[in-house]
Amino acid sequence: MAEFDVAVVGGGLMGSSAARHLAEAGMSTVVVAAPEPDDWALGVGPFASHYDSGRITRIISADPVWAELAVRSINRYDDIAERSGIAFHDPRGLAWLGIGIESAVNNSNDRGGTARMVDPEWLYNTTGIRMPTTPGMQCAMEDGPAGVINPRDLARAQLVLAEQAGATLIYAAADVVQPHTPPGASLSVTVGGPFGSITAKKALLATGAYAADLAGIDLQVRRQLRTTVRVDIGPAPEMPSLIIEPVEHPHINDLYWNPPVRYPDGRVLFKVGCEIENAPEAQGADEIAAWFAGQGDPVEEDALVQTTRNLLPDVDVNHWETVPCVITRTAHKYPYVGWVDDGLAVALGGNGSSAKSCDEIGRLASMLFTDGGWEDPVVGPEVFAPVVLG
Ligand SMILES: Cc1cc2nc3c(=O)[nH]c(=O)nc-3n(C[C@H](O)[C@H](O)[C@H](O)COP(=O)(O)OP(=O)(O)OC[C@H]3O[C@@H](n4cnc5c(N)ncnc54)[C@H](O)[C@@H]3O)c2cc1C
Repeated sequence: MAEFDVAVVGGGLMGSSAARHLAEAGMSTVVVAAPEPDDWALGVGPFASHYDSGRITRIISADPVWAELAVRSINRYDDIAERSGIAFHDPRGLAWLGIGIESAVNNSNDRGGTARMVDPEWLYNTTGIRMPTTPGMQCAMEDGPAGVINPRDLARAQLVLAEQAGATLIYAAADVVQPHTPPGASLSVTVGGPFGSITAKKALLATGAYAADLAGIDLQVRRQLRTTVRVDIGPAPEMPSLIIEPVEHPHINDLYWNPPVRYPDGRVLFKVGCEIENAPEAQGADEIAAWFAGQGDPVEEDALVQTTRNLLPDVDVNHWETVPCVITRTAHKYPYVGWVDDGLAVALGGNGSSAKSCDEIGRLASMLFTDGGWEDPVVGPEVFAPVVLG
């Protein structure tokens, strides 16, 4: 007899969100959630994409699927925060700089967002952000609920609610996930680790950059090894989140930042990141661990610092640190949410955009385990179908 209806492996943003929805729908749920390594330099992992204190949240997007995932999630932030007692959302707004951004603004407005075109002088006078003189560049602002969320706190809030709804939490890394059908019995999935072994009727792998490796399934993912910069700019000015694309720099395509937020060590830091062509990729766990033990890429660091200085001419960008991270990209650029084997589904592949939308991604994943399955005219299962190699 399986002990649980569903075992969720991974307690990051997608796993914790799926676990909440599963447990609140009345399914007996166990979550096997690896804790964050105390010392990244010594840790073997697993590491995660949400090990940070800030992630941009916004409805505005050039892509209606991402806008839809975001607004559905954002609409539930207050409920999650209130019932868990964990605040994770700061609706301080977002500046969106780009070329041909009308459709992104419309995608916000169509879903109740407040995005609107603004004048570059207004932007500079109210935020200190100097729009580059790139031909054709425009500027939009989206007020709250756009802004910033604390991803560690959001995952924690989801796990609190999952546990309140009856889920069992195991804080350890799983080392095996094995679907099997013993003679005369029904299909079940065994999840093993330092805690021993548990069985569930079905399992959801929400293991981020580790994809479906635990189950020996080769998903088409790219695990990009990336670098961010955390800048100490002194007493934190009121500043919105920012996304700008393109950026006129030989090494980076775009740039984003989270406004200054407080980190666990008490410092208030401002985090900057970007997209680059041909980012290095990890093949597996050892290469991810080696990357997290290092200092990132100095070329990416230099590009981020120089571009930030140009965008914030009045701010003293003189003290910063680099932080390595990993982004998991899928073949179709949306998360993989779907079945990959009998009894085994995945919810992973954040593509650098899923923190704000994790609650809806987790809800969709939880629908896989219901009798009725998952139907949705806008974000149906076909959009998120996992691509398995071999
Ligand atoms: C630098 C950076 C900036 C980003 N900025 C934004 C942003 O501004 N806005 C936004 O919306 N998104 C952003 N993202 C994307 C967002 O953080 C990710 O999409 C999101 O974290 C993906 O969630 P996930 O649950 O799939 O993976 P993760 O958050 O990585 O969680 C996976 C979890 O699985 C666990 N795990 C792995 N293997 C095992 C195992 N064997 N046993 C148990 N547990 C296991 C890990 O410990 C981890 O907790 C950013 C990502 C990065 C890296």
